[in-house]
Amino acid sequence: TYIFGIETSCDETAAAIIKNGTEIVSSVVSSQIESHKRFGGVVPEIASRHHVEQIISVLNETLEQAGLTFSDMNAIAVTKGPGLVGALLIGVNAAKAIAFAHNLPLIGVHHIAGHIYANRLVKEMTFPLLSLVVSGGHTELVYMKEHGLFKVIGETRDDAAGEAYDKVARTLHLPYPGGPHIDRLAAEGQDIYGLPRVRLEEGSYDFSFSGLKSAVINTVHNAEQRGEIIIPENLAASFQASVVEVLTEKTVRAAKEYNVKQVLLSGGVAANKGLRAALEKAFDDLNNIDLVIPPLSLCTDNAAMIAAAGTVLYEQGKRDGMDMNGHPGLDIEQF
Ligand code: ATP
Ligand code: MG
Ligand code: FE
Repeated sequence: TYIFGIETSCDETAAAIIKNGTEIVSSVVSSQIESHKRFGGVVPEIASRHHVEQIISVLNETLEQAGLTFSDMNAIAVTKGPGLVGALLIGVNAAKAIAFAHNLPLIGVHHIAGHIYANRLVKEMTFPLLSLVVSGGHTELVYMKEHGLFKVIGETRDDAAGEAYDKVARTLHLPYPGGPHIDRLAAEGQDIYGLPRVRLEEGSYDFSFSGLKSAVINTVHNAEQRGEIIIPENLAASFQASVVEVLTEKTVRAAKEYNVKQVLLSGGVAANKGLRAALEKAFDDLNNIDLVIPPLSLCTDNAAMIAAAGTVLYEQGKRDGMDMNGHPGLDIEQF
């Protein structure tokens, strides 16, 4: 089975071909980061225009790299939400045009389902499983009893982890996106600033990062007022220690309570070295739970993950019609 995947939900224009659900035949990601950098974040209008400009060459390069044509494909899978509506619509309409021209089934994929299924390109999934999803717009613990069935057992009540990383980076005058810069600095610093660990109510699997973000901003402002110097490496290390500790603790607790066989790390923040190391250490002692961590290229946005999730939906007989739309607030439990 060959599934062609398309992803345009945010600032990456991406396409990929996946064979039999697990094998990457080709994968192309065109990033717009350079265009958004000077605004310190993704500008929706600019994102849409970039997708329009990039989509055809990304599609062609994906076919060329694979040495295949659309007539070799079994279906076209595309991110239909959540994301920026103007950005989503470029991918959705490209997918519709290809499906119509080549008479192929059309499959709309949830972007976060895609992030989770990036793990299937590394290792076969064993159920029940738990995925820690940490990305630019989401931070949640997702329980899966079987393929295509998602239950959110905990989520952020305010900022996503990636969002907090990017805002803290901005406070430290680091370029966008700040996650990788904080990660790099954190490795050279020490956790000395005594930042809070926000665990919420006893037993809750929800997260909250806005208080931590404010604590970082206050630390910087207070130091400025007192004429003290902030050591960026130490502040980055302190922030990262708090994020990683809470994420790891709740993931381990949920994995045990839900008796899962596997834990999958998903989303852009899954690229974080501190988080990867902490999870590996925590699950090292839990011999009956298999921890899967994708390579960095599969953590941040790509279309291979969309085609991987699309393959499962294809096999389940799920199809979308030519009336498919972009859904900025698509719910992973419903889609
Ligand atoms: P969503 O998937 O929720 O729609 P998105 O697609 O914009 O959001 P991703 O592309 O999955 O988000 O992830 C981007 C985020 O990952 C950014 O916030 C970025 O700073 C963060 N990130 C990337 N690498 C790292 C890292 N090494 N450490 C921490 N954060 C990182
Ligand atoms: Mg992105
Ligand atoms: Fe994403």
